[in-house]
Order: sequence, then C-alpha cells, then structure tokens
Amino acid sequence: MTVRTRFAPSPNGHLHLGHAYAAIVAHDLARGLAGSHGGEFLVRIEDIDGTRSRAELADDMLADLAWLGLSWDGPVLRQSSRLTAYAEAGERLKAMGLLYPCHCTRAEVLAASRAVGPDGPVYPGTCRRRSADPAGAAWRLDMAKASALAGPLVWEDALAGLQQAEPVPFGDVVLLRKEAPASYHLAATIDDAAQGITLVTRGADLFLSTHIHRLLQALLDMPVPRWHHHGLLTEPDGRKLAKRRGSPALMDVRGAGEDGVALAERLRAGEFPAGLRLSQRVGNST
Ligand code: GLU
Repeated sequence: MTVRTRFAPSPNGHLHLGHAYAAIVAHDLARGLAGSHGGEFLVRIEDIDGTRSRAELADDMLADLAWLGLSWDGPVLRQSSRLTAYAEAGERLKAMGLLYPCHCTRAEVLAASRAVGPDGPVYPGTCRRRSADPAGAAWRLDMAKASALAGPLVWEDALAGLQQAEPVPFGDVVLLRKEAPASYHLAATIDDAAQGITLVTRGADLFLSTHIHRLLQALLDMPVPRWHHHGLLTEPDGRKLAKRRGSPALMDVRGAGEDGVALAERLRAGEFPAGLRLSQRVGNST
C-alpha cells in the first residue's frame, strides 16, 4: 500500500523550526530521499479556528515549505472548505444519541471540574444531565456512552507500538463549537480519512489526542491509519519552541537569504541550531 502522509499546520502564527522539522518528517516518511519511498505527501491548512486563524498566513507557510525543498501532492486542502463534511458527521453522531448541547463557559467548567485529564480540567458533565437549548450551543461527546458503544479499540504508533485506546479520561470533549464549526479532534479525524492518509505524522504533544481520534474513527466507520508521533524541537531548557522566546519564523530566515534546502538537510541530520534539542518521542513521557 502506498504511504500517504500529511503536514497540517494551523495558520495562527508563522511556521518556525519545529514546524520545519515536522514537515520534513512527514515528507520524508512518504517520499524518502528523491522520492525513493514512492509515497505521497499532502498539505492541509487547519484554518477553522475563527478567532485565531489568519488566512493570509497560509501562503507564507506554503512558500516556507517550498523554500525547504519540500513539494506536496495534489491540491492543498483548507478546512474552511470542508464545513459541510464536519456538520454531516456532527448530525450523524447526534442521531446516534452521542452528543449533547452545552452552554457552559470555560470559567464554569473550571470551577465545577473535579478531575484533571490529559488535556486539562475534565468537563464535569453538567449539561449531560440537563436538556440545554440546542440553539447556539457547543456539542459535547458523551464519552462513556460512545466508548461503551465502540468497545475496546487499539491503535498503532510506528515508534511507540500498539496502544489501547483510552479516551475516557478526557471526559466529554467538545466536537462542535459555538465559535468554530468543528473542534480540532473532529475536523482532523474526518479530513485524515477523506484525504486517504495512511500514516498520520505529528508531534508527540498530540500523542494522547489519538485516543479520541481512534474512537471517532470507530463511531463514524472511518478507515484506521497508523500514526507516527515524532519528538518535538525544544529550547535548551526543554520548553517548546516559541517565537516570543526568540525562535525565528521561517519566513524571516528565508527573507534573510539563508538556503532552505541546506537548513532542511541539517535538520534531517539532527544538527539543530542554537542548542535546540529533540524531546522524547512519546507524548505521555515528554
Ligand atoms: N494543526 C495542528 C497544529 O498545527 C496539527 C494537527 C495534526 O497534525 O493532527 O498543531
């Protein structure tokens, strides 16, 4: 089977070296050197977080990838063109009785939460027991019900091996948002299936999200890819790269006339600038 990977940046800031590393990993796992693996590498722009997304950044991102010597297959998919697909999946989950409307604010969730899950404070299920007004609501997945329906699930990470899917500790996550058409979990899972991705490559910081994505695949009868969660480039003190801590935007490095292909070669060889390091690979141990 042909390997198909993707790089799926969110245009809420410029790409930095961490993104360059992620894109190179995804590209090389599909294409290999000079196309030797014969696979396909796709690009998806995750531009549906309406409050933070800036469409104009997407063109700079594509120029950054080309500068690094990375080419991609087929058209770039923009999530903003996929809203019908997300809404349809949402309706399907509602019809299965797995979603419920919720109007709780972030502050209310924080105040009422009694457990911390992999993604922070767990929603205490306040609206699961009410019949909240569906108008203008966010829709949450009834996690216990959904997990019971799907039964035991496994997924495979190329580096960390076989994993038992454990989505329940996340609690009732939001799948359809008030201010955005779909949550990251729903949109990314639907698009990975629609784009025929066979190997989902992304940073180890998203390792645990895969438990939720695996459940959504089971609920929506979607194909199950393999995953490859790679280590993250970190500052010498172990923190994630961030522009405010001085990690330059690729477009600035590009604008300064540096050779992007040579930079990509150094990242491939594990030669990271200015004391940057690669963190451990598996999300729950970083
Ligand atoms: N859009 C996400 C990000 O920029 C990546 C999502 C994914 O690769 O699944 O962090």
